[in-house]
Amino acid sequence: MEREQVIIVRYCEIHLKGKNRGYFEQVFMNNLEKALAGVRHEIRRPSGRYVVENFDGSRTEEICERIRKVFGVHTLSVGIKTGADLDEIFEEVVRIAPDSGTFKVETNRADKHFPLNSVEVNAEIGGRLLGKNPSLKVDVREPQCVLHIDIRENGTALVFRDIIKGAGGMPVGTAGKGMLLLSGGIDSPVAGYMIAKRGMKLECVHFHSYPYTNMQAREKVEELARILAEYTGGLTLHVVSVTHIQEEIHKKCPEEMMITLLRRFMMRIAERLSLETGAQCIVTGESLGQVASQTVEGMTSSNAVIKTMPVLRPLVGFDKTEIIAKAREIGTYETSVLPYEDCCTVFLPKHPLIRPKLDKVEAAESLLDVQGLIDEAFAGIEAVQF
Ligand code: ATP
Ligand code: MG
Repeated sequence: MEREQVIIVRYCEIHLKGKNRGYFEQVFMNNLEKALAGVRHEIRRPSGRYVVENFDGSRTEEICERIRKVFGVHTLSVGIKTGADLDEIFEEVVRIAPDSGTFKVETNRADKHFPLNSVEVNAEIGGRLLGKNPSLKVDVREPQCVLHIDIRENGTALVFRDIIKGAGGMPVGTAGKGMLLLSGGIDSPVAGYMIAKRGMKLECVHFHSYPYTNMQAREKVEELARILAEYTGGLTLHVVSVTHIQEEIHKKCPEEMMITLLRRFMMRIAERLSLETGAQCIVTGESLGQVASQTVEGMTSSNAVIKTMPVLRPLVGFDKTEIIAKAREIGTYETSVLPYEDCCTVFLPKHPLIRPKLDKVEAAESLLDVQGLIDEAFAGIEAVQF
C-alpha cells in the first residue's frame, strides 16, 4: 500500500462537558475546517480524535501550523497511513523511531479481527525494533518516546509519534462573544488571546485620535487583529475616532482627568457596539497597578458607565514580564512594540489621577455633551473584517 501522510489531532477538555459534548465537538470540527479553508484535505473522526488526510504532503508543515492554533487542540502528530500488516507497520515504525534512548510501543486496535491484540502488537513490534537497534531500551512507565500504532477497521493502520503541542483551551464559539478593546499595545492582544482560548468569540474595537495619531498606528492595530483572527477563526475590528471627544475633554475638563474620562467614553462606546453586534461582555488588557489608570478606583470609574454586561480583565493578576512572554509566544509582541502613538498618549496629563473619585469624575463629565459626542463617534465607525 502507498504511504500517505496524515495528521492526528487530539483535543482537550471537550470530553469534560458531558451532555454538551456533541455541540462542542461540532464547533471544534467547524473551527478545524475554517482553519484549513483553501487547502485540500479531509477530516475523519475515528474514536476520540480527528485525523486529517488526503492533503498535499508538501504543505504538511503549514497545515500543522494552522491546526496548532485552533483552540481545543491538545496535541497533534504527523503520521503515516499504511496497510494493517505487521511488516508494513514495522517498516514505518523504524522510520520514526529514535536512534537511542527509551521507548514504548502503544497500540490501539479498532479492528478487533486483527490477528494480534494490542498488547501482542506492542510486544511484537517492540521486540523487532530492539532486535534491529540494540541501543534502544523499553521503558513502559516513563519512555522518552512513544511510538503509536493505530489499527483501523478499514484495513489501514496509522503510525506516529507525539510531537506538536497545540494551543489548548476550548473551541472558539462555545463561550459566547466578547468585545475586546484592542489598543496597539502589548497587553490587549494577549487579553484577547486568553479569553478566546476559553472559547469566546471576539469582536474588537480600536479608538484612535487621527490626525494626532497617524496611519501607521492604525495599520499596526490591523496587523494585531489579523494575528488574533488566526486564533479566533476571523473577527471584525471596529475603528472609532475619539479625536473630538479628546478635544472636548481637553477644552472643558481638568487636565488630570483626561485618561479617566476617555476610558469612560471608550467603555460606553464598547457597550453600545456590543449590544449592536451581539457581544455579551467587554474585554480589556488592564492589569492591576500596572500604570496610573489601572487602579481599582480607576476600574470603578470606568465600570460605573457599563449597565448591561460584565467587564472581563483576563490579565488583571499578571506581571508585565508574564504578559510579554505570552505576547512573544502568540506572535503579537514584535508588532506591539512598533513605536506608534496610541490615543491615550495624546493630551497626556503630566499627573494623571491615580485614584479618581467617582463623584468628581461625574461632575467633570457633566460639562460635556456625552450623548452627542458618542453619537458623533458612532456615525464615523468603520468595520474591517479579518
Ligand atoms: P495595552 O498594552 O493593551 O495598550 P496598556 O498597558 O498600554 O495596555 P492602557 O493604555 O492603560 O494600558 O490601556 C488599558 C486597556 O484599555 C488596554 O489594554 C485596552 O484594552 C484598552 N485601550 C487602551 N487604549 C485603547 C485604544 N486606543 N483602543 C482600544 N482600546 C484601548
Ligand atoms: Mg496602551
